[in-house]
Amino acid sequence: MKNQAVIEDLLQKHELRKTPARSEILSLYIDTPHAMSHGDVESQLDEMDRVTIYRTLATFEEKGIIHRAYDGGEAVKYALCHSECTSHNHNDEHLHFSCNKCNNTYCLEGYSIPQVKAPEGYQMEEIYLFARGVCKNCSS
Ligand SMILES: [Zn+2]
Ligand SMILES: [Zn+2]
Ligand SMILES: [Zn+2]
Repeated sequence: MKNQAVIEDLLQKHELRKTPARSEILSLYIDTPHAMSHGDVESQLDEMDRVTIYRTLATFEEKGIIHRAYDGGEAVKYALCHSECTSHNHNDEHLHFSCNKCNNTYCLEGYSIPQVKAPEGYQMEEIYLFARGVCKNCSS
């Protein structure tokens, strides 16, 4: 399998034991330039069972290896964390871009989400912002 060194490094850094499922899913995320939902992973690794994929994604998110890339769709998509994310401390405050042509969602690293202040009396707990348009691959 490819990416072996990167995978081992990532798992070790986030204190996760190496299992075949974790290695395979992580390898897929490393090789894919856009965010993927549970279903996307499932269709790529069709011999792996759904529960294993579900659990592995949950563990990866919790440990700071992947983060949610909100794109307004029904299925939650995840992308590999590039910044220094650790367990319970994600650092992925960048914009996500959803392409109208290929339907893929990309991390826009370095493009931060603007701070929005809620009006008086409103307690904002979460805010979801994403961009939609045509991605680099589809516009060239
Ligand atoms: Zn993260
Ligand atoms: Zn596209
Ligand atoms: Zn992202």
